[in-house]
Amino acid sequence: MSKFYITTAIDYPSASPHMGHAYEKVCADALARWHRLKGEDVFFLTGTDEHGQKIERCAQRAGQKPQEFVDEMSKKFRELCQKLDISNDDFIRTTEERHIKACREIFKRVYDKGDIYKGRYEGLYCVDCECFFSQRDLVGGKCPVHDKEVEHLEEESYFFRMSDYREKVLEHIEKNEDFIQPKRRRGEIANRIKEGVRDLCISRSSFRWGIPLPMDEGHVIFVWFDALINYVSSLSYPTGAKFRKFWPADVHLIGKDILWFHSVIWPSILLAADMELPRSIFVHGFINVGGEKLSKSKGLTVDPLKVANLYGVDALRYFLLREIPFGEDGNFSEEGLVRRTNNDLANDLGNLVNRTLVMVERFAQSTVPSGKQDEELKKLALATVEKVDEALRKLEIGQAIAVIWELVRYANRYIERTAPWSLAEDQGRKGELSKVLYNLLESLRFIAILSFPFIPNGAEKIWGQLGMEEDLCRQKLDKLKSWGGIKPGAKVGNPQPIFPRIGNK
Ligand SMILES: [Zn+2]
Repeated sequence: MSKFYITTAIDYPSASPHMGHAYEKVCADALARWHRLKGEDVFFLTGTDEHGQKIERCAQRAGQKPQEFVDEMSKKFRELCQKLDISNDDFIRTTEERHIKACREIFKRVYDKGDIYKGRYEGLYCVDCECFFSQRDLVGGKCPVHDKEVEHLEEESYFFRMSDYREKVLEHIEKNEDFIQPKRRRGEIANRIKEGVRDLCISRSSFRWGIPLPMDEGHVIFVWFDALINYVSSLSYPTGAKFRKFWPADVHLIGKDILWFHSVIWPSILLAADMELPRSIFVHGFINVGGEKLSKSKGLTVDPLKVANLYGVDALRYFLLREIPFGEDGNFSEEGLVRRTNNDLANDLGNLVNRTLVMVERFAQSTVPSGKQDEELKKLALATVEKVDEALRKLEIGQAIAVIWELVRYANRYIERTAPWSLAEDQGRKGELSKVLYNLLESLRFIAILSFPFIPNGAEKIWGQLGMEEDLCRQKLDKLKSWGGIKPGAKVGNPQPIFPRIGNK
């Protein structure tokens, strides 16, 4: 059985989760669920990044100890995962003992190799980013991400000889087309590397909230060096069975603002520690609200929990996955979400399920009739499975959903075209009626399984109404290799609306 290891970035819990966090988790979840459907052994990781000066300051302001503060905040991110039906297999917190152990181990290995030395650091530091900027990176003298004043810092620090790995990392990026996706991001990073890579300051001594260095307890490990290691500490690096099985990661799913850390710093650390590099880094865009970038400092946050409570989890998941072009920036708006929900979920899919089940109830006493295969519908459904897989191999999640919806719309037109209600009035056409109903039910079986990674709630409800006995979450794609999985004679459930239309609020 092949394995698939996918991670999100771990979230920095200095404030409550926003729509950008929800988006990344939902994308990773859809991919993880798809790979489970394919029968792969999936490990899906998310978590929280809990050290650093910014957390220490946020805790101070809240009048709490840093540990109390992160305990509370990290819980909010776990609740978000539950609320959004995120199927993560683990949730790593960088304050956990298992992480601290792995982090110190890697630090020690790199140190023993001679790749860490002591020096002095002087530079411009953004506490929110937890990183240094050169003068030329600043915009109007301020942090380009946060639009905030940077601080001038000077302290004794340990450095990682990252410049020694510049050639190797560049070579890896250039040789492996799929390592950074989308492609244009790969070009951007390659160019930046060519401009030069400096050694990285990897310790701080002006605050305490971090992991102490193994050989110098007066310093804590730089928060990014600490955080990136979550991808292996969660697998019980270095000796864990999970580490042997799942490393290297197949997909690190991240936002575009942290690409340098993942495509240059992380590979350099891994090379220094004699570990394999991840197979690919997928970069998604930002979610804008009304055209403006989501930013905590500007107060433009949309609470994903509130949206999910108001409109339903599937409506939110569907909107984010269908509407935001993967790899690009996208726009979140309630109007857009309502439109998608009403058009695609309520009208297209909801009506298809409801009309089909009402007809089976009325014309076939809620029993799956036996009927001949409809060659066209069968051909389209089988091709849909291939096309969804093809789209998802390229991480084109919106395209994968669009392909499923072609099948949904085709099935709706099939109802219009065959007009089962007229067939029912003609005793001589009973065979035709049974054929239409059977093929509609079978296409719903395909649609329920195919849409499960994207809208797990709704897919479960469709599955339930079809009266299927096995659990939907145990289904695999090999159940969609042939037409005829739904058994004649089986009872279907009561038709109930699955995606109610959202009225004017
Ligand atoms: Zn910043």
